[in-house]
Amino acid sequence: MTALSTHSAALESTRDEVCALHAELTRWNLVTWTSGNISARVPGTDLIVIKPSGVTYEELTPASMVVCDLHGTPVEQGCSPSSDTDAHAYVYRHMPEVGAVVHTHSTYATAWAARRESIPCAITAMADEFGDDIPVGPFALIGGDDIGRGIVATLSGHRSPAVLMASHGVFTIGKDAKSAVKAAVMCEDVARTVHLARQHGPVERLPQKDIDALYDRYQNVYGQREGTDQ
Ligand SMILES: [Zn+2]
Repeated sequence: MTALSTHSAALESTRDEVCALHAELTRWNLVTWTSGNISARVPGTDLIVIKPSGVTYEELTPASMVVCDLHGTPVEQGCSPSSDTDAHAYVYRHMPEVGAVVHTHSTYATAWAARRESIPCAITAMADEFGDDIPVGPFALIGGDDIGRGIVATLSGHRSPAVLMASHGVFTIGKDAKSAVKAAVMCEDVARTVHLARQHGPVERLPQKDIDALYDRYQNVYGQREGTDQ
């Protein structure tokens, strides 16, 4: 328990943040019943905090968040971790820059996943946040490392923080929990917009030079100028 007590302040704040951010998944209608989950690294440790399995969103509390090691094994007594914990843990082990992972079956994005079709980077908001098409990952059954392996293989070296896992749903990554949740919200938003646009005609991907310019400005300039109204 040394690691836990040494880092107890970081652990408690991570529990609080991960619990609170789950309310964003319901607020933005990204989840149904108990599906969906958020995890985050506990800064300065080899621990993660993740949603418990089978608990409704209304019942989530900071204390019910499950603390696991990077192999997805709980390190204390309490609730069982999400059934997606193996996938999250695989991502943390293989992508050290990732501080948080979010999973949803949000409707429009999962419709693209069901067709196994990437979402073309056709609107500026998508170029800003994703910098590319939102890619499709392989089909993988839950349990073991297959889902995690597919996420890592698809997102490593890719600008997009979101992947559409074939016939399943969305996984997003971020440097922190808020970033990963934002990516999940934005993924559903652009999935819906591009879907609607396609109902009345073809949708063309933006030219690569424009995607590059938008992405660079949004990621490297816009975010550092808080307080300006751009
Ligand atoms: Zn799922």
